[in-house]
Amino acid sequence: MAAGNGSADELDVVVVGAGFAGLYMLHRLRQLGFSTTVLESADDVGGTWYWNRYPGARCDIPTTDYTYSFDTELEAEWTWSEKYATQPEILRYLQHVTEKYDLRPDIRFSTRVAAATWDDGASRWTLTTDQGDRLSCRWFIMATGCLSMPKAVDIDGLDRFAGDVYFTSTWPHEGVDFTGQRVAVVGTGSSGIQSIPLIAEQARELVVFQRTPNFSIPAHNGPPSPERLDDIARDRDAYRHSGKWSRGGMPFEIPVDTAASLPPDEQRARFEAAWEAGELFSILGTFADVLINREANDVVAEHIRRKIREIVKDPETAEALCPTDHPFGTKRPCLDTNYFATFNLPHVRLVDLHKDPIRSITEQGIDTIDESFEFDALVLATGFDAMTGAIVSVDITGRDELSLKEKWAHGPTTYLGLTTTSFPNLFLITGPGSPSVLSNMAVSIEQHVDWVADCLEYLRANGFERIEPTDTAEAGWVQHTNDCGDITLYPLANSWYMGANVPGKPRVFLPYIGGVDTYRGACDEVVERGYFGFELAGPAGRQRNDGVIRRLQPDVFAVLTLLEQLNLPLLESMSPTDARAFMEAMNADRPLGPDVGEIVDGELPGADGLLEYRLYRPATPGPHPIVAYFHGGGWVLGSKDSDEPLCRDLCVSADAVIVSINYRHAPEACFPAAAEDGFAAVQWIAAHTQELGGIPGQLAVAGWSAGGNVAAVACQMARDAGGPEIVGQLLLTPVTDCDMETGSYIENADGFVLTAPLMQWFWDHYADADERTDPRAAPLRAADLSGLPPACVVTCEFDPLRDEGNAYAQALEKAGVPVRVIAARGHTHTSLTMVGIVISGAGVRAEMAEALREFFQASVPA
Ligand SMILES: Cc1cc2nc3c(=O)[nH]c(=O)nc-3n(C[C@H](O)[C@H](O)[C@H](O)COP(=O)(O)OP(=O)(O)OC[C@H]3O[C@@H](n4cnc5c(N)ncnc54)[C@H](O)[C@@H]3O)c2cc1C
Repeated sequence: MAAGNGSADELDVVVVGAGFAGLYMLHRLRQLGFSTTVLESADDVGGTWYWNRYPGARCDIPTTDYTYSFDTELEAEWTWSEKYATQPEILRYLQHVTEKYDLRPDIRFSTRVAAATWDDGASRWTLTTDQGDRLSCRWFIMATGCLSMPKAVDIDGLDRFAGDVYFTSTWPHEGVDFTGQRVAVVGTGSSGIQSIPLIAEQARELVVFQRTPNFSIPAHNGPPSPERLDDIARDRDAYRHSGKWSRGGMPFEIPVDTAASLPPDEQRARFEAAWEAGELFSILGTFADVLINREANDVVAEHIRRKIREIVKDPETAEALCPTDHPFGTKRPCLDTNYFATFNLPHVRLVDLHKDPIRSITEQGIDTIDESFEFDALVLATGFDAMTGAIVSVDITGRDELSLKEKWAHGPTTYLGLTTTSFPNLFLITGPGSPSVLSNMAVSIEQHVDWVADCLEYLRANGFERIEPTDTAEAGWVQHTNDCGDITLYPLANSWYMGANVPGKPRVFLPYIGGVDTYRGACDEVVERGYFGFELAGPAGRQRNDGVIRRLQPDVFAVLTLLEQLNLPLLESMSPTDARAFMEAMNADRPLGPDVGEIVDGELPGADGLLEYRLYRPATPGPHPIVAYFHGGGWVLGSKDSDEPLCRDLCVSADAVIVSINYRHAPEACFPAAAEDGFAAVQWIAAHTQELGGIPGQLAVAGWSAGGNVAAVACQMARDAGGPEIVGQLLLTPVTDCDMETGSYIENADGFVLTAPLMQWFWDHYADADERTDPRAAPLRAADLSGLPPACVVTCEFDPLRDEGNAYAQALEKAGVPVRVIAARGHTHTSLTMVGIVISGAGVRAEMAEALREFFQASVPA
């Protein structure tokens, strides 16, 4: 295939957009010999940096990193003059790239793509433009930008205004001189915050109309950081590699300390350092949990508000500038130069639209409810219809005449943010469902362009003419993207990330928050697994590798990845003593869980001697219901405090006393020691309820894993012995049987911490083969399950014990026992116990606590 000359109507590829993405895409495709035309509505290259020429327009990622990395020669010949380069400099850079690779001949400027229609028979797209062109292409790439479609102005009367109106997103090329003018700026997002200080330098009077205050920190702009330049000079490839495999798209050490783990003076010191650094990732990474924990977030937010109050002299203006309606970071924070100080100037005024909303724009200016303002010029910095606006503004019709706008009416759905079902051969660069606007976009763009170019090369080499994601793959990715968003604070903000700035736009978290590194890993894995989640077709036949690329909860995946990197020894390769010491060491630094009212250690009589216990009491006034809790650890490992975070969590959320019991362990005390100790402990607790601060008649049992086994067996033993009364059993991923050939054992045999070999090791220590079918080891095998306490059985998708947990729940139900089953999607045998680490488990733990509360409520006499 010959390279195109830009005028052919039959092309391999059409790319829409000539910004960072479209330019590099064209370069790659030409290198690969695909005939390609780029269509661009502007009359030159640059995209964002062509359109946004307002005063103060600059990048917010250090320019050393907001740059292409695909060509060392290009990098060597270009030097950025500032830490955050201005729009003219970035535009010059993109023009330089255009000239260097001679891209212009294949770009049609001043051409807006109006529509694109898929021809299923020919497996080709036909595009039409506002210039009357018709282009046919096999592959259609939308490189139309995430922030390229200005949001429609929703203020009445804009056409009435007699003075000049400027939009930051389409600023006049010749610039604007505001000297001596009365100017209004509407909007205090990034563009407003960057332009206001410079407009104030010229204007005679400046009134800023603010709907929502934003978090902003000083950019401390200047020359590029010498350390960073040194790093790049020393080993460019390593530097770029670490950017590509970083959370946000530039090298940055991920913080490990949570806010709560640091005293206030250290918190403050961390914040001040981040404030001084003047970089997005520094301030967003002040603490490990800034974006997932409201209290940690409040620490940073409050420090920024303190700074605003220190800078802005008028207390009322300062207060109005303090953001309080969204957690810090859940809207992209801004980097500014003198933004807040600008409000100390005598000719600058802030109008807080929350207090005094705009009624309409008039011929002379702006009328709010309380005042009439007169202006010579209006500057509208009102933002973008982000991520989807530019895509759906083209009338794209796919298979079965489905329009993309219709498909996305309730929110965009994509596979990897790159493709979408029913629209074969359509690629979206930095589309919704990819890190895009949450990252250094230069890095994310390069990654997408490379992925698409490699894909087209693969398809061509293998005789495929079409590619489309499967429904399963797309649904799985959407689920995963939502799972990632749901463990953060982002959904709490009415932000453009959520589509909330555009009236009528569905409220969906648009970008992928799982991290540039994790995302790249998923994209690479899709390719390694033969374009997993895609159906490919062509003269070579059909290839369909269906499935979901990320089924684990994102934080579970992150923990497992970390564990894999640590390359830890296998527990089953150790002696029980060493394994216990190892587990204790592993648990040493974990978060302990929420504060409880009181923790008391004590001893109670087991079946053969005293057993230690630890009691967790809620801070609320007692008495409380009691839960006898049995820890996990395969009857071999664990202790009364090994499950402390989970016990604390249950104590607080179920508002119950939790008594965690140190039942005897194998191999020192084998079957049925654990079972007998469990029952003995329950008997003792029932007899000492009041002393323990409990409510008589309100005793439940709970346990995790082997502890779930002990709890279930204790219920059977209590029933058979005629007491004590147990009002409910909460069984978290319990061992209920000794059959190791179930589907879940086979699926998860060597996967996720609890493996089949480890379970074998536990069984081998605990019980001889002929003992394992005894109902006190395998409660599922009890001849009769009727008359047992109501149960809540929690099973995890990626757990060898999943099927036996479900089987026990079904058997209980069949025997007439009320059962609630919680099937934890994307979780593993251990993940739900990781309180404070695996945030996605919080909802399941809350359900577990609710089940306990229900047991107790049901047991209260009417
Ligand atoms: C003011 C501002 C500052 C930013 N600063 C940063 C930053 O510091 N760091 C960062 O990572 N990101 C930043 N961004 C995000 C920025 O958009 C991306 O970094 C990057 O420039 C996007 O490149 P792109 O090629 O994907 O899209 P764009 O640069 O937006 O280019 C898309 C092009 O497609 C064209 N187009 C759209 N629809 C059509 C159509 N139907 N027909 C023909 N042409 C069409 C548009 O005219 C435009 O030229 C900023 C954005 C803005 C608005």
